[in-house]
Amino acid sequence: MISYVSEAFQWLCHSLPQGDHYVLSPNEETGNWQDCVAQQDKKCGCSSCLLACQLVEEEYVLISEISPSLPLWSPTKELSGGLTEKELIPRRLRLILVGKTGSGKSATGNTILGREVFESKLSAKPVTVAFQKGRREWYGKELEVIDTPDILSSQVQPEVAAEICQAIAFSSPGPHAVLLVTQLGRFTEQDQQAVRRLQEIFGVGVLAYTILVFTRKEDLAGEHLDKYMRETDNQSLAKLDVLCERRHCGFNNRAKGVEKEAQLQDLMNKIEWIQWENEGHCYSNRAYQYSQQKVLCQEVWERRMTQEQDSEEVLSKESWLEVLSQIQEESEKTYKCILGRMSI
Ligand code: GDP
Ligand code: MG
Repeated sequence: MISYVSEAFQWLCHSLPQGDHYVLSPNEETGNWQDCVAQQDKKCGCSSCLLACQLVEEEYVLISEISPSLPLWSPTKELSGGLTEKELIPRRLRLILVGKTGSGKSATGNTILGREVFESKLSAKPVTVAFQKGRREWYGKELEVIDTPDILSSQVQPEVAAEICQAIAFSSPGPHAVLLVTQLGRFTEQDQQAVRRLQEIFGVGVLAYTILVFTRKEDLAGEHLDKYMRETDNQSLAKLDVLCERRHCGFNNRAKGVEKEAQLQDLMNKIEWIQWENEGHCYSNRAYQYSQQKVLCQEVWERRMTQEQDSEEVLSKESWLEVLSQIQEESEKTYKCILGRMSI
C-alpha cells in the first residue's frame, strides 16, 4: 500500500510543473472513507480540494492575463464554504455522463436511475443525439442524471461548439460529479483524446470531480476492479486513474437486484467523497458562472417584466448563447494553454 501511494506520488511529482505542491489522498481500498477523509481534513485539508484549488487558481490567473475583457469568477470564493458536516453533501446531485459513443453512457444512466429513461443500444451511428435528463430519489437524495451525445469528439465543427454550450446550459450551475464512461479493457488512444477534450472544454480541474466508470464489469469474471486497475499495463489509463485519485467504478448494466444496487452504492460513495473534498460545491468555471448569472438575471427580469411590461430588458436567448459561446471559446484557449504547460 505504501509503495503504491509513493509510486503514485512520484508519478504526479514528475507530471506536474515544478514549484507546485500537490498532495495525494491515501485512498484506502478498504475501510471507512468518511474516517479517511476526516483524518486528512484534520491534518492538512483535503487533497482533491487542493489539486482543484491549485488548478483552478492557475486557470484564474491565466484567464485574467489572456482575456481581461471577460467577466471573472473568484475561485477562492467558490471553494470556501464553511458548511457543517451534515450540510456538506447537497440533497440534489447533478451527474453528467460523458465518453465515447457506444461506451455505455445511456445504459449507465438507466442503471443509476433504476429504469429505462435513455435509449441505449448497439449501433454503428450515435443513438443519443440530444441532451436528456432523468431524476430519481435515492435515500433522501435527488439524483439528476444528464445523458449527453458525443461532445468529446475531437472534430471542432460549429455543431460540436453549439453542443458544448448546450452541455453547459444543461448541467448549469455545474455538475457534482462527471462520470467518464469507458468500456472495460478498451481504453484506447481515442479515449485519451476524449479525456484531453474533457479538460479543454470544462477546465483542467474537472478531473477533481471525475469518476472513471467502466461498463461491462461482468467481463472481470469476479475479479476486483481495483486489482485490474493496479495491474493494468495501459500506462495512459494508470495515469488517468492517479489523476482522478483512484475514483473508479465498475458497472454491469445488465445486472439485476442486489448487484445493481451495490454498483450504485459504490458510485454514490465516490460522489460523496468528491463532495467532502470540495466542501459540497459543484464544479464551476466561467461558462457555468455566466450561465448561472443568466438564470438569476432572467428570473429578476421576468418578475420585472410582469410588473412593467418592459420587453427590451429581456436578454434574448440568442444573445445569451452568443456570449456563452464567446466565453467558452476563450476558456478553451486558456485550458489548452494550461494543458500545454502541464504536459498531461
Ligand atoms: P452510449 O452511446 O455511450 O450511450 O452507449 P449505450 O448506452 O447506447 O450502450 C452501447 C451498447 O453497449 C448497448 O448495446 C448496451 O446494451 C451495451 N452495454 C452498455 N453497458 C453494458 C454493460 O455493462 N454490459 C454489457 N454486456 N453491455 C453493455
Ligand atoms: Mg447514448
